[in-house]
Amino acid sequence: MTIVTRFAPSPTGYLHVGGARTALFAWLLARQQGGRFVLRIEDTDRERSTAESVDAIVQGLQWLGLDWDEGPIYQSERGDRYGQVIEQLLATDNAYRCYCGKAELDAARQTAMARGEKPKYNGKCRDRAGPPPAGVAPVIRFKNPRQGEVVFDDLIKGRIAIDNNELDDLIIARPDGTPTYNLTVVVDDRDMGITHVVRGDDHVNNTPRQINILRALHARPPIYAHVPMILGDDGKRLSKRHGAVGVTQYADEGYLPPAMLNHLVRLGWSHGDEEIFSKREMLEKFSLDHINRAAAAFNGEKLQWFNQHYIRQADTDLLARDLRRRLDRQGIATAPGPDLGEVADVLRERARTLAEMAQKAAIFYRDFDTFDAKVAAKNLKPAIAEPLRALRDRLREIKDWRPRAIEEAVAETAAQFGLKLGKLGQPTRVAVTGSGVSPPIDQTIYLIGRARALRGLERALDYIEKANP
Ligand code: GLU
Repeated sequence: MTIVTRFAPSPTGYLHVGGARTALFAWLLARQQGGRFVLRIEDTDRERSTAESVDAIVQGLQWLGLDWDEGPIYQSERGDRYGQVIEQLLATDNAYRCYCGKAELDAARQTAMARGEKPKYNGKCRDRAGPPPAGVAPVIRFKNPRQGEVVFDDLIKGRIAIDNNELDDLIIARPDGTPTYNLTVVVDDRDMGITHVVRGDDHVNNTPRQINILRALHARPPIYAHVPMILGDDGKRLSKRHGAVGVTQYADEGYLPPAMLNHLVRLGWSHGDEEIFSKREMLEKFSLDHINRAAAAFNGEKLQWFNQHYIRQADTDLLARDLRRRLDRQGIATAPGPDLGEVADVLRERARTLAEMAQKAAIFYRDFDTFDAKVAAKNLKPAIAEPLRALRDRLREIKDWRPRAIEEAVAETAAQFGLKLGKLGQPTRVAVTGSGVSPPIDQTIYLIGRARALRGLERALDYIEKANP
């Protein structure tokens, strides 16, 4: 059997972390078995669905590299097909028109509740005979079986059995004839030959209803896997309060797709005590029967940890391109400065995100206006003027402008004045970058370049003189 899975988002917002994880699991299942992965846009709710959301979802999936074989298929374009199936259900006595008004339904519900029963539709129109009441546009309800139970073996939750008595005759078409969610999902899962439905467990209550409709259509229900929801690190349902929830927002903040995928796959799934999974390893090792039944918590720090890991491993060109884009956006010209790849290679050990990397890279491309007052007062004191001058002279003489030679120049200068390396390194750092934080001093001076390093040292000497007349 060829496995066919699908991702079926409702385009009412960005691709959020929960949706992305569902998509990843469905994608992995299809890809690891040579199956197909379908992207279906569930946009029958015309008021809440937007083209921007579709774009955001598509972009999110593309960013993560979750490619699909079919789609996007839009439910909004399949109205005729849903109409056909609704007619079929009516013709085979599996559905009926219901003329009950809201007041009537409310009253029936109240009565049921007063009797301590479940407030479900009482089935009044199910066996209605005679001409329809005039002037009422009916809804169409599915004739749910009255006897027996629906049993299915969820790949994550195990066996689930629901008594048909618990289930309503649910509405499959609204008064204007438009189909409802449960109907469209059933028709699509069947027409698209979906073998495995992987989705959030907020849909688990819909599953018995969908299975009943599929049976009425003589279709074999797919296998279901309901994934537990994702919580924030405070144990509450993940929402905007926990920071970024849209996947592309993480792209903007400088997270790499493999880091996001790694964190997503580990949310509720485990393989021994391994943490790091490249896409290839996920494809090898992923299996739905190792998914936790309990909800998993999204953890921003862990995502950062994964991100650091993948930044360390990333292709230099990729990091360089990203740096250029980010610095460009800040109006910092990178062409006159050091090679972006070299900067990225120095910073890759020191950045948790690409945004942080760009922020740290800025010192190599932008002249600073003034010394940070506090840092300067602490580091640029009269006693260091002489050593800085000596270092300046040495730097001027270096033939092979490489970190190695620069390191020697700094070490020799420090030794000459009986200073520990750091006692010279830190004032030098302040002199050439304007701030007290940067990569190791030889790397820093190397990347800043000879001309700017010398200029910085002159400025520092000037500063010391002016501050100590
Ligand atoms: N469109 C539904 C949602 O976004 C998913 C339906 C399904 O996967 O069956 O929640």
